[in-house]
Amino acid sequence: MSRHTQIPPVSLRELRRSIGDLSLRLRTSRTLGRPAVPRFVDFDSIRLPDGRLVGRKKVIIMSGGCSVPTCTMCPFTNENNYQVAGGASPESLLEQVRRTLVRTDGEPAYEVLSLYNDGSFFAPKEIPRDIQVEIARLVAGAGVGRLVVESLPQFVTEPVVARFVEALGDVRLEIGIGLQSADDVVRETLVNTRISRVSFERALKVMAAFGVDPKIYLMVKPPFLSDGEAVTDVVQSVDYLTGLGVTGMTLCPTRVSRNTVAWELWQAGLYMPPNLWTVVEAIRRVHERLAVRVACVNLRGTDFESVFPDACPKCADAVVDAMMRFGETGEVSDLPEDCVCRPPLEVVPLDHEAITARAAASMAVLERAGV
Ligand code: SF4
Ligand SMILES: [Zn+2]
Repeated sequence: MSRHTQIPPVSLRELRRSIGDLSLRLRTSRTLGRPAVPRFVDFDSIRLPDGRLVGRKKVIIMSGGCSVPTCTMCPFTNENNYQVAGGASPESLLEQVRRTLVRTDGEPAYEVLSLYNDGSFFAPKEIPRDIQVEIARLVAGAGVGRLVVESLPQFVTEPVVARFVEALGDVRLEIGIGLQSADDVVRETLVNTRISRVSFERALKVMAAFGVDPKIYLMVKPPFLSDGEAVTDVVQSVDYLTGLGVTGMTLCPTRVSRNTVAWELWQAGLYMPPNLWTVVEAIRRVHERLAVRVACVNLRGTDFESVFPDACPKCADAVVDAMMRFGETGEVSDLPEDCVCRPPLEVVPLDHEAITARAAASMAVLERAGV
């Protein structure tokens, strides 16, 4: 975790607020709700912590999206029924889960169900408490071995997890948390996610007490950072998590999607997603310095229009394939070697003063441009 910042707290707080306000303003609220059916259903295979490769069904239900959608890069809540009057009815949430769990002819077998809602499963505003527990009962009765949900850590509290895990019975629970960065300035101001170190560490303890597996997501190159700073941020974040005993970490190189602060910065020429070789460098350093293997999310998502981390046409696909292979094997020889397109990369420390000054200047440019 970062050393105490030298920035006067008021200006940092103002910057945090103005970035968060812009994030919210850019969200697309819809007057007409999308139908209450999952917006995404997919089947694939994943490796469990015990090494077994098993089938997974991944479903994103239509809810009301994230109730604290301040993050500068996150497009997900825009794809859901954000701010639709009335939101998702409890019954429609249950109905989507019931339908999800009906095994139909021709459907691939699966042991893992990833049930996402484009927000925090345990936020009562998004999924009411009793509905959370009812969903656990439905999953428990459906022959699923493992349930994966995502949540901000402040909603992962002891009474909530206790009731949920009890209702799940023998189904193992995994909770994904998008910590994004262990650095307070990067996480709370640049990413602008509402996660405090205290609530994160408390959630980890609750999960450990109830036998819940944490999966922690870290960003590679949050908005306002350079590629060189991003590598440092990832290495420091993995170091922090390793110190807390976390083993399940996944890197998310930033993709730039519409209606986000990241998109506006990119449009203004103030930000680019990380180069793929920067992601490779981050993975390599984590492996070499900390002896920790991190997986990377699949960079070929096609669910909606985005600008993805890239390299040159000759190497890009091979680099992505190699990183996915490395996530499976942990063999450093699986990481790609080099390409003529690889840009020079100067890995630099996180200088909070310089970073916040740059972020404030970027925000001023957007403001002048009428964003
Ligand atoms: S990253 Fe998570 S907390 Fe942040 S806006 Fe997206 S869904 Fe909400
Ligand atoms: Zn190349």
